[in-house]
Amino acid sequence: MSVRRRTLLKVIVLGDSGVGKTSLMNQYVHKKFSQQYKATIGADFVTKELQIDDQHVTLQIWDTAGQERFQSLGVAFYRGADCCVMVYDVNVMRSFDSLDNWHDEFLKQANPADPTGFPFILLGNKIDVDGGNSRVVSEKKAKEWCSSKGTIPYFETSAKEDINVDAAFLCIAKTALANTHEQDIYLQGIPEAIPESETRGGCAC
Ligand code: GDP
Ligand code: MG
Repeated sequence: MSVRRRTLLKVIVLGDSGVGKTSLMNQYVHKKFSQQYKATIGADFVTKELQIDDQHVTLQIWDTAGQERFQSLGVAFYRGADCCVMVYDVNVMRSFDSLDNWHDEFLKQANPADPTGFPFILLGNKIDVDGGNSRVVSEKKAKEWCSSKGTIPYFETSAKEDINVDAAFLCIAKTALANTHEQDIYLQGIPEAIPESETRGGCAC
């Protein structure tokens, strides 16, 4: 029996207001960048189709509409997430310090079955600003944070200059996909357990 594969993957993007979450999504999905600050967008999510090996995948990427300022994103935002992308601004220490809170908040709200194995990804955004001179969080420090939480992949990005955006989202898609396979294999075992009464004496020959 082949394993059922779900190809719709829900990805949520978390991080302080202003770090570039919406810009990263726009760059990835629409190949556009806007300098203008828009705290809210109309849709709850955007979708992007991609091919991973021989599999067709639809990424459903959920953005916040500015409510992250109050850390009140609501349960629908977190529900059923296959991957959690955390974003901070390499030029703003506070946005890096907030990562612990976002990580905790995700685990609390989404309540994944396997909290230690759940796929997170960290993006350090705005590496283009001032040619890197205004940077306050080093790559080393960010990677240390990632290892302190398990094995979280880390990418340094610029939504403005389109640096590493595709690579980061491809990793996000692959990680989310790997996670759903595990769930499918696990779930598959449950309905297959046939009651003993049906397995005995069922054959007429
Ligand atoms: P959000 O609140 O996390 O969704 O952040 P936004 O995507 O709305 O971005 C906040 C501001 O930062 C906007 O003015 C963007 O134009 C700007 N911004 C986002 N990403 C980058 C980047 O990589 N480099 C630079 N220089 N500015 C960026
Ligand atoms: Mg936004």
